[in-house]
Amino acid sequence: MEFEGAFRYFPQSMPTWHIVKCDSGIGPRAASFMNKALYARAQELGVKFLLETPGKKILKEDGKVVGVMATDKFGNEVKVSCQAAIICTGGAGSNFELIKKETGYTHGKDMFSFAIPGIMGDGLRMAWEAGADKLPVRIEQAAQIMGVEDLPGSVGNVMIQPNLLVNKFGKRFMNEDFIQNSTYLSNAISHQAEKKAFSIIDTSIARYYIKHGVENVSLVRPNPDVSDFIDGMKMARANGNEGMIIADTIEELAEQAGIDVQNLVNTVDEYNDFCMSTDEEFFKNPRYLRPIKKAPFYAARICPGGYGTVGGIRINENCEVCDKDFMPIHGLYAAGADACNIYDDSYMFLLPGNSMGFAVNTGRIAGMTAAEQVKNDK
Ligand SMILES: Cc1cc2nc3c(=O)[nH]c(=O)nc-3n(C[C@H](O)[C@H](O)[C@H](O)COP(=O)(O)OP(=O)(O)OC[C@H]3O[C@@H](n4cnc5c(N)ncnc54)[C@H](O)[C@@H]3O)c2cc1C
Repeated sequence: MEFEGAFRYFPQSMPTWHIVKCDSGIGPRAASFMNKALYARAQELGVKFLLETPGKKILKEDGKVVGVMATDKFGNEVKVSCQAAIICTGGAGSNFELIKKETGYTHGKDMFSFAIPGIMGDGLRMAWEAGADKLPVRIEQAAQIMGVEDLPGSVGNVMIQPNLLVNKFGKRFMNEDFIQNSTYLSNAISHQAEKKAFSIIDTSIARYYIKHGVENVSLVRPNPDVSDFIDGMKMARANGNEGMIIADTIEELAEQAGIDVQNLVNTVDEYNDFCMSTDEEFFKNPRYLRPIKKAPFYAARICPGGYGTVGGIRINENCEVCDKDFMPIHGLYAAGADACNIYDDSYMFLLPGNSMGFAVNTGRIAGMTAAEQVKNDK
């Protein structure tokens, strides 16, 4: 497997995002080439794959792992005998019940997980049932513009620039310079009332972006051209996207968005003053201080979102699954998102690629430790 190189995700991030070389240049789904390479090598080594046969239960005897129970696609039980099992089922990003219980977020209301379908937390449950210490399950946060998947890219591109950002009380709550750090943004929004935040611009700012292109682009949002932004906003309104607002006055914009009207008027006034001098509240980069004066005004709701969940199974440095006394369970290992307890409520987006990096490395460590254990057991 080869890499295109190591890249930044957004301007303030580190160039740690290792993008896999594939046949169509840098773009979505490059990681599938890594999976194909690993799969091919495993087949060469004689590994047997049981696809569509999800693991259901870890079998233990005398405290040691002796096998795994699975069910094939016809509903038949399959027993795999083994001396070591590695749990790596990718977390629970599509299990909205578990997410609600563990984190308090309600999918579709105040959190928009875009996890891979079918990632239901099987490995977490199997490990906990087998005696693993249960650690908190967290959302791997990344902020989302409401309904962005149905909109032209220009809407997301404009509204994720360092614009004025307010909560439902009409108050600013973070330095907007960092808006492209999706984790900071999602985390900060999570701490606001109703987890509500709006990015706001006026017509002059929209025209500036349309004429010059947006300033902050990334490999994910590479296109500075946002010429269809206004059409995109109108389309969102026509489609009933309540998170996209167009209004002729700040008061009307606040009312439509459910923001405290007088506070927003005051915040915009103060912000416009800062644009003439210094942002005394957050010391935002003066380059991004642009007054909000000319109607119509545009706002987009930004919500907490996530790639899925991380964490839940306690492991040690050898990726051995440990019980509540930190003692390894003989023959049981975990890797990847199921075991990724290295973040608290925010994952480290300044080092892009590090959740995949954690998965690849813990997978390797778990494999090496398990192989050593099986050899020693003999
Ligand atoms: C849209 C998106 C974009 C992302 N972008 C990045 C990025 O840019 N950089 C980064 O570092 N990370 C990124 N991530 C996160 C990254 O993909 C994960 O951290 C990583 O894939 C976790 O690896 P894993 O092996 O733990 O789980 P996964 O890669 O999810 O693999 C888990 C596997 O287990 C299988 N499985 C589930 N249940 C069972 C069962 N009961 N029995 C058997 N198999 C089962 C699943 O089908 C799946 O094949 C992104 C995630 C998403 C969803």
